[in-house]
Amino acid sequence: MGFPISHYHTMKYPQLPKNENKRLQNVKNFLLLDTLPEAIYDDVTALIADICNVPISLITLLDEERNFLKSHHGVPFNESPRNISFCGHAILEETPLFIIEDATKDNRFHDNPLVTEHKAQFYAGAPLISPSGYKLGTLCVFDTKPRELSESQKNVIIKMAQQVVKLFELHKKNIELTAFDKELKARNERLKSFAGVVSHDLKSPLANITSLTQLLRNEYQDTLKGDGLTYLSYIEESSESLRNYIEGMLKFYKSEALTDTKPETIFLSSITNEVEELFHHKNVIISFPKSNIVITTYKMALIQILLNLISNGIKYNQNPYPKIDVSFKEDTIFYYFDVQDNGIGIEKAKQKRVFELFETAGQLDSKGKKGTGIGLATVKTLIEKMGGSISLSSVEGKGSTFSFTIKK
Ligand code: ADP
Repeated sequence: MGFPISHYHTMKYPQLPKNENKRLQNVKNFLLLDTLPEAIYDDVTALIADICNVPISLITLLDEERNFLKSHHGVPFNESPRNISFCGHAILEETPLFIIEDATKDNRFHDNPLVTEHKAQFYAGAPLISPSGYKLGTLCVFDTKPRELSESQKNVIIKMAQQVVKLFELHKKNIELTAFDKELKARNERLKSFAGVVSHDLKSPLANITSLTQLLRNEYQDTLKGDGLTYLSYIEESSESLRNYIEGMLKFYKSEALTDTKPETIFLSSITNEVEELFHHKNVIISFPKSNIVITTYKMALIQILLNLISNGIKYNQNPYPKIDVSFKEDTIFYYFDVQDNGIGIEKAKQKRVFELFETAGQLDSKGKKGTGIGLATVKTLIEKMGGSISLSSVEGKGSTFSFTIKK
C-alpha cells in the first residue's frame, strides 16, 4: 500500500471541491470510512468488473487526504493517496461518468504513479452523490489498456452508483436504528427500575399511615367528633386504594420476570387447582376445563393471568353467586383460553381501552370501589410475552368473555 508521491513531473493534482468541508462532513456521516469489506459492496464491484470486462472496479470514498476503498475488486489495497487519485478529479466534473480513455495521453495523468507504476490506463468513474447532493466518492473501473465502454456498460455504472448510495443510506439508517433501539431499551430499563423502586419504597410509609389511622381510631374514637371520624374513614379508604395501586404496580413490574424462566410441561389442572384454591372461600362458582390436559407453558405466568381475569369476573359482578367459566382448546400453534363471567359487562366504547395501564371502564366494583386499571395491562403484557394475544367480547348487564391465546 502507499505510492511514491515525490517524483511527479507535470501531472495535475485534483483540486478540492468548493464545498469540501461540508462534503467531508457528509462522507464522515455515513460511518463507512475504515469499515471492513462487505460482501454486498464486493458483489457490486465484481459484477461491474464482469459487465465492463475490466480487471479493476472500486467503490471509493474521498476522505481528507486519501481515497478509501470500501470495495476493491482487482487491487490488494484499501486506500490510496487522494492527490494522485482519478476519483479526486471525477468528483469535480459535472458529467454522470468521468472517462479517461488513455491516461498516458492525458496531461493530467500521464506521469501519475498509478499510470506509470500500476499501469492504470483506462478509467471510468460515476460519482456517488448523497441525497444532500455531495459527491462522496465514486463507483469506478480501471483497465491496463486504453479502451472504450459501450453505452449500456456506461449506463450500468451510472445506475449502479445510485444503488450503491442507497446501500450507504441503509447502512447509516441501520446504525442509527440500532443506537436508537439500544437507547430505548436502556431508558425502558431505567423507567422500570424507577417505578419498581418507587412503588417498593412507598410501601413502608403507607403502612405507617395505615397503622397510625388505626391507632387513632382505636385510641381516640371517643374524642373525635362526627366529622373527625368521617375524615378518618376517608384517610383509610385513600390508603387502601393507594395500597392497591402500589401492589398492582409491583405485580406489573415483577410479572415480566415470570416468562424469563423455561416453560414447563404440566397438567393444566395443576394450574387450575392452584387458582381454584385461592377462590374457594368466596361465593363463586368457577368451572375449569377437564383434568387430563397437558400443556407446556410458563406456569406462574398463566396462574397470574387466570387469577386476574377470574377476580375481575367476580369483582365486577352484581350476582350473589358470580359464575365464571374457564374453557380451553388447542391447535398445532396455540392454546386458546376463554374466561367468561356473568358480571356487569363493559361498554363497547371502553372495551379496547381496558387493556391499557391505569385505564378502567369507569364502573365501580361490587364493593363500590373504583379499580386501578393495572390488572389487565399486566395480563396483556404477559400474554404478549408468551407470543399470544387477548381480546374481549362483552354485553353490558350480561357479562364478559376474555379470550386469549398462548403460543406453543
Ligand atoms: P382494575 O380492576 O384494578 O381496575 P383491570 O386492568 O383489571 O384493573 O381492569 C380495568 C377495568 O376494566 C376495570 O376497572 C373495570 O372497569 C373493567 N373490567 C375488567 N374486567 C372486567 C369484567 N370481567 N367485567 C366488567 N368490567 C371489567
